[in-house]
Amino acid sequence: MSVRVVARIRPLLKAEMQRDIIVDAANTAGDAKDAKTIVRIPNPKKESEAFSFQFNSVYDSEATQAQLFDAEGAKKSGLNKAVRWTNMPATVSPTVKHLFKGYDVTIFAYGVTGTGKTHTMRGGKSLADRGVIPRMLSGIYRKARKIEKDSEGNKQVQVSMSYYEIYNDKVFDLFEPPEKRTPAGLPIRDIGNGKTQVVGLTERPCTTLKEFEQLYDKANVNRSTSATKLNAHSSRSHAVLCVKVTQTDSGETRVSTASAIDLAGSEDNRRTENNKDRMVESASINKSLFVLAQCVEAISKKQSRIPYRESKMTRILSLGQNDGFTVMILNLAPVRSYHLDTLSSLNFANRTKKIEVNEVENQPFFRDQPGKSKLDGATNTMKAAPLHRQPL
Ligand code: ADP
Ligand code: MG
Repeated sequence: MSVRVVARIRPLLKAEMQRDIIVDAANTAGDAKDAKTIVRIPNPKKESEAFSFQFNSVYDSEATQAQLFDAEGAKKSGLNKAVRWTNMPATVSPTVKHLFKGYDVTIFAYGVTGTGKTHTMRGGKSLADRGVIPRMLSGIYRKARKIEKDSEGNKQVQVSMSYYEIYNDKVFDLFEPPEKRTPAGLPIRDIGNGKTQVVGLTERPCTTLKEFEQLYDKANVNRSTSATKLNAHSSRSHAVLCVKVTQTDSGETRVSTASAIDLAGSEDNRRTENNKDRMVESASINKSLFVLAQCVEAISKKQSRIPYRESKMTRILSLGQNDGFTVMILNLAPVRSYHLDTLSSLNFANRTKKIEVNEVENQPFFRDQPGKSKLDGATNTMKAAPLHRQPL
């Protein structure tokens, strides 16, 4: 199965001008009913020429948060009046189904600062403005309640979350206030099957959407942001949210994880006139995104050596190794001032979409029948282990 890569072109901001628009979305056949799959951008060296990049879907500036998450759902509920959405597949909502089947899911937003990554992943406060993350959680809780109800008490679903950032190639728990951080960050450890664990990470159970949102909002305050010339609240870290879904059916337990990653800005630091601290940040951001691109290319070319270990971010993501289902959202700004960065984002994503990902169904990790346990000495009491401060 290949990774799903979609592009999203954000609308113009107040300070931007209509005449500066250079990026647009198109469809292959020119049929108005067809969903758009192509991003067009002029060749910076020869403006009469346009480059075209094809994706699984392209969302233009009119696409709503609901349409990005679930175009089909939006249509069903009557929100989708426009004809051109008719054939638009849902981008993120199918991941909820995959998650409950036991597959791990990874969704990440890639793009230059100011192109809409945080808007896409987190979104605004109003119901209509909610981004991918709260919508996914809402879907998870809805599905969990349905499973529990339909099973008449035989099945239970538990949801817990951890949230960390990778800043200057170090991992920091976002449930810890910045002043409590150890400068070296949290260690990470390989746990086999290409999976990695962040040691000592806080894991919080969250039983309702409201509970999740309270924890998520609080943790977001701890995210490193600092002013750069490009964006007053520029994100200089990769924020990784992990939502663990534990399904119990008559004593058998299955765990799957959804990771949602708001990557640090992919801009070229030569443009931002960074000071020394900012240069250190930029260097490590550029390095991790560069390694991500290298991994992506290696996987797409089916090379045997994939340089995962060369940055923390790629080690933790393990892209192409253990992911059951990966969605990459490429955020783009439509205007000329982003021209070269937009082109480099498009080139990056062009490699990514060829990744082949094998779906690995997570095995039940223990059964509470004697003799079937996969863990040494596992007993029924394991079920009662507290979730707080357990590694993932
Ligand atoms: P990033 O996280 O990539 O730096 P942001 O998500 O902060 O970018 O977006 C930059 C600005 O553009 C914000 O003011 C945001 O509200 C706005 N924006 C981004 N995408 C959209 C969109 N699809 N619709 C409306 N506003 C958007
Ligand atoms: Mg952001």
